[in-house]
Amino acid sequence: MRLATAEIDINALRHNLAIVKQMAPSSKVMAVLKANAYGHGLVKIAQCLQGADAFAVARIDEALALRAGGLTKPIILLEGFFDSSDLPILLANNFETVVHDENQLAAIEACQLEAPISVWLKIDTGMHRLGIEPEQFEEFYTRLKQSPNVKADTKLMTHFPCADDLNNHFTALQIASFTKLVKGQSDALCLANSAGIIGWPDAHFDWVRSGLMLYGVSPMLDCVGVDHALKPVMRLKTRVIAIKHVVSGDRIGYGGRWTCKEDTTLAVVAMGYGDGYPRHAREGTPVVIKGERYGIVGSISMDMITVDIGSNDKSIHVGDEVEMWGPSLPVEEIAICADTIPYELLCNITPRVSYDYQADG
Ligand SMILES: *Cc1c(COP(=O)(O)O)cnc(C)c1O
Repeated sequence: MRLATAEIDINALRHNLAIVKQMAPSSKVMAVLKANAYGHGLVKIAQCLQGADAFAVARIDEALALRAGGLTKPIILLEGFFDSSDLPILLANNFETVVHDENQLAAIEACQLEAPISVWLKIDTGMHRLGIEPEQFEEFYTRLKQSPNVKADTKLMTHFPCADDLNNHFTALQIASFTKLVKGQSDALCLANSAGIIGWPDAHFDWVRSGLMLYGVSPMLDCVGVDHALKPVMRLKTRVIAIKHVVSGDRIGYGGRWTCKEDTTLAVVAMGYGDGYPRHAREGTPVVIKGERYGIVGSISMDMITVDIGSNDKSIHVGDEVEMWGPSLPVEEIAICADTIPYELLCNITPRVSYDYQADG
């Protein structure tokens, strides 16, 4: 009997890519696959995204894993490279690099490569994480164009910290300052992450970088119950492994944190923080069994969770399937219950969880 399993719906993945293209019809799409494709399985997900124009990852190892898996599309390293000895690897594998600081630019200028590499110049328009200052743009741009190690197809990019909040004017300011800065250059521009794609059509330009929305999850604030036409790709499921009757006053689980107010029935579910389920999910966080929602009670253990199934104990049996998140239960909602964001929940899936890829047609 299979317990903790992440069922991956490939048709939903392709549907979400189609939604990205529908929302940003004039843009090329970079499918963001970092962190094991947000916990969905790096190579498998990439293999199912033939419709994307490029892939993006955070680390060279992730890019190498894609090549080892037979993927041939351009791959962009979103943080660039970390040592000049990486540069021949970039060239040999057709990896494109972000350049966000002087060290990287100097390393590219100083190296001896048999052929030039493609560069995405990253400008910091207010996130204050990676990227050159706007005042450095002229100099970096000129030096990149002069270096024989850099291909002529330089792209220009920036990143949004607040695009998930439609009421935050900062994104509009970033779009304005970025376009003003790069005015007059004919290079391709790339600004929008998923929130930029969904919420800020003015940010689409030549390339979009879609991560979370590809996996069918909304990046927007106040997203629960809002339909962005996305379909959840992951269904995290497991099974009931015990049914237990408890009486008023019984304390449940580690620390005895939850006390039964009345006689009830618990379903013990084979899922815990050892599978990546958030230990801090609050009391009452829902799971779905046979189409009905039930609330978690007591501490979340490494391998098990207790769910109050109340008087429905006759209809629920050992072996019944339990959905922890997925099409019947948005991971966005679980993230709120666990005081985190869906990104973290998806990335935290541990190797103990088995993957089941499903595609029809
Ligand atoms: C992760 C990442 C993205 C994708 O963000 P989503 O919100 O998942 O769409 C885009 N751009 C950069 C630079 C990133 O690091």
